[in-house]
Formats: sequence, structure tokens, C-alpha cells
Amino acid sequence: MTVRTRFAPSPTGFLHIGGARTALFSWAYARKHAGQFVLRIEDTDVARSTPEAVQAILDGMSWLGLDWDEGPFYQMQRMDRYKEVISKLLNEGKAYYCYSSKEELDALREQQMIEGKKPRYDGRWRPEAGKELPAPPAGVPPVIRFKNPLSGNVVWDDLVKGQISIANEELDDLIIARADGTPTYNFCVVVDDWDMGITQVIRGDDHVNNTPRQINLLHALGATIPQYAHLSMILGDDGQKLSKRHGAVSVMQYHEDGYLPEAVLNYLARLGWSHGDDEIFSMAQFCEWFDLDHITPSAAQFNTEKLNWLNAHYIKQADLGRLAQEVTNRLAQAGVVVHDQVKLEGVIALYRDRANTLNQLASSVAYFYQKPQVDAIALEKHVTPEILPVLNALFDVLAHVEWTQEKLHEAIEHAVTSNGLKFPKVAMPLRVMLTGGAQSPSIDAVMAFLGKDEGLERMQAILNA
Ligand code: GLU
Repeated sequence: MTVRTRFAPSPTGFLHIGGARTALFSWAYARKHAGQFVLRIEDTDVARSTPEAVQAILDGMSWLGLDWDEGPFYQMQRMDRYKEVISKLLNEGKAYYCYSSKEELDALREQQMIEGKKPRYDGRWRPEAGKELPAPPAGVPPVIRFKNPLSGNVVWDDLVKGQISIANEELDDLIIARADGTPTYNFCVVVDDWDMGITQVIRGDDHVNNTPRQINLLHALGATIPQYAHLSMILGDDGQKLSKRHGAVSVMQYHEDGYLPEAVLNYLARLGWSHGDDEIFSMAQFCEWFDLDHITPSAAQFNTEKLNWLNAHYIKQADLGRLAQEVTNRLAQAGVVVHDQVKLEGVIALYRDRANTLNQLASSVAYFYQKPQVDAIALEKHVTPEILPVLNALFDVLAHVEWTQEKLHEAIEHAVTSNGLKFPKVAMPLRVMLTGGAQSPSIDAVMAFLGKDEGLERMQAILNA
């Protein structure tokens, strides 16, 4: 049987990290088994679903490169189909009209609570052989309920959590259509999973409670029951449920914060799944290795440091042209214009080993394109009155040499040795004058990229001050 998985987000917000991991695992499972991955937008909650949220989901998926083979299907466009299946269940006596008013049900619940019973619908409108039903009240639009089996257990072998068994006595007759005729959430999911031929339902474990109801419905429809894999939730760095408090939870926020999609994917892949001690791997590798047996049933904890470590790794490996484009965009947002892409690639090559994020990379190279704010403390510490004569003499030399890395190195080296100094005594003040701070890669390399005119101008501004 061809594997068919799906990702079925409700478009009520951005694509968050937990959703992205669910999508990734569903996608990888389909890819591993040469199956199909379906994208379905569960937009029946019209009050909370927005087109912007749909777009945010599509953007997040595209950015991560999680491509789908079918869809996106929109539940709101499948209403006729749901109604058709509801009629079928009614005709087959597997569903029925229920005229209980809200007040009636509230009273029932209250009574059950008083009696110390679990509140549940008591089946008063449920037709049974030999049972006399009340006459439908006039003018009351009914809901439609599913005739859930009264006894026995719903059992499934969850591919993550192991065997789960729920007694039917715990489940009351689910409302599958509201009084206005619109189908309810669990019902739409069931019809979709059935129609779309889904073989493995991989989703968050907040849906475990829905699964027995969905299985009963699938049985009633004569559908093949898919396998289920419920992924445990993701906790924040602090062990609390992941939420906005933890900063970036939206996938596109990671993009904005300067993470590469391959780093986020690699990170998410390891969030609750493992392949021995392997930490760094490509998505091609992941699709080959991925299985549901190595998903841990316990909650996974987010670890920003590890994500940063992976991001740093991928920044070191990324194509320079791509990094230059990313850095250019980020600098542009900060109002800094980059005119020379070739130079920028060279500059990035100097800096990329020091950056955890693209934003750090961008801010660390910004001084090539705009005059830096000079760090006053570093200035006082390194551009001391004792070293000023050396720097002035060096300035005159530098004004007459070609600014290649080699020539610059020679000139600095000469200033160092002829004055009997240690290299940093000269290199540090140069750093401060040219980059604004005391930290930079090899100063001759920095100066070569900065260029003679700009370099001399920056030196002069401080030496003449
Ligand atoms: N729409 C549901 C959600 O976003 C997922 C339903 C499912 O995967 O079955 O949580």
C-alpha cells in the first residue's frame, strides 16, 4: 500500500515550531516510503481562521522546503462532501437527530455532577429497537449525533505511544453536525482522512482524545483505519509548555532572526527523534533514516543553544553568494546599502566562522559599509598617547602603499619590529580606528577589504582628533 501522510493545520495563527515538526515528520515519512504527502487546511473554525494565517502556513512550509504532493485542500470547500456523508450515516441508521436544547443538556450535566457521575449525553434521542422516542418539538432545529458503540473498547497501537485502549462507555454520541447543518471538527477530519486515503496520521498528542471517536466513525463508514502516531509536545528551554513567552515560536520568526532553514529542519528532526548520536545531517539523509520507532514518547525540550550551534555550522558551510544575499537584505533593513557583492562575499568569508545567526553576521560586517560607532573604552585602552607617534608614522607609510593584504601586513610588521613592540600594540589600535571595536579577524585582511581611501579616512578622523 502506498504511504500517504498529511499535515492538517488550522489556520488560526502562524506556523509554529510544533506544527513545523509535525509537518516535517509527516513529510519525511512519506518521502522515506516513496509515498505522498498531503497538505490540508482545516479552516472550518470561521471565527478564528484567516487568509493571512493560511499564507503564513504556506510561507513557512515553503521556506522550510516541505513540499506537498497534493493540496492544499480546504475543508470549507468540501462542505457538500461532508453533508453527503452525514446523509449516508443518517440513512444507514448510524446517526440520528437530537432535539435536546442547551438548557436541557445543562440541566442533565448538573444532575450528573450532583450524582458524582461523569457528565455525558444520555442518549435520550438515540433510536434503539423497541425504544419509544419523544415527538420532535416544533421549531427546534436538531443537531445530528453519531451512534457511538455502547460497549467494548477502542484500541489502537499508537506508533509512538504504544497500545491505547479507551472504553466506549467513556465516549458519548458525538455531534457531527450542528443545528445550522455545519459539520463538526472531528467529523471533517474523519471524512478527509478517509477520502484522502491517509495511511499514517502523524499529529500532536493534543489529539489523542479525538482518536477513539474518529476510529469509531471510520468503522461506521467502512473505512480502513489508518495508523496513528501522536507526537509528544515540545517544552521551552525552561521546561514549560512552549509558548510566545519563549520568544520565537513562529517558524518565520526564525527566518527573520537569521536562522537558515536547513538548521531549523535539522534541529526539528532531532526534537524527539534520534538516529544514534547523529546530530548533523541533511534532509536527504533524514528521509532515509526517519522512522517512527525512534520517536520518544516523552516531551522534547527546546534548546536554543543547540539550534544556534547547528545554525553556526550551516552558516560555515553555506554558499557565499547565498549568504551575501541574506546579509544584503538584512543590512538593507537597517538602512545600510551594499554595493559590491564580490567584496561582501570576501568579507563574509572572514566573518562567518564567528556568527551564530545571519543577523549577527550582518551586524558584524556592517562597518564595511557605514562608518562605525567607535567604542570609547576600546579607544582609550588601545589608542594611547604612547602609541600615537607610531600610528602617525604608520599612517604616512600606509598612504603610500597599495592596500593589498600582503603590503599592509608588511607595513604593520615593520612598524611593530622597528619600534620593538609586540604585534597587538599596533594591531589593536588599528582595529579600533577602522572597525570601531577591538575584535576583528586579521586586521590586514580587514583593511584590504575596507579599501585605501576609506581606511585612511577613518584613521585620520581619530589621529587628528
Ligand atoms: N487541525 C488540527 C490542528 O491544527 C490537526 C488535526 C489533525 O492532525 O488531525 O491541531
